[in-house]
Amino acid sequence: MNKKEKEKYKKRLLERKKEIADVLSEVYNETKEAENAGIAKDMADKAESSYTKEFLLSLSDKELEQLQLIDAALDRIEKCNYGSCQTCQVQIGKKSLDAVPWAPNCIDCQQKAEEESA
Ligand SMILES: [Zn+2]
Repeated sequence: MNKKEKEKYKKRLLERKKEIADVLSEVYNETKEAENAGIAKDMADKAESSYTKEFLLSLSDKELEQLQLIDAALDRIEKCNYGSCQTCQVQIGKKSLDAVPWAPNCIDCQQKAEEESA
């Protein structure tokens, strides 16, 4: 992979990272608002707000996971091994990287990992 391509993926990774940071801070604020609102309400409403909180937290878990993948991908760009599968070391296709620049694995390994976790 040449320097120009690396820069392109790096830019996309950083853009996505910023998007997630924005979503997370929004989720965080909503969670805090839900908590504050819950204080003034009765027990039933409190239960509802803790459900909301759980939902928001589960959402942010997913975002956090993606954030970790993005950080790992940025690290691989710095270490010049970006674009190769972390499991079988095969070169990940450009199409896959264009679709998911933070993908740590090639399509084959990704599918296997998903089958195993399913
Ligand atoms: Zn692989």
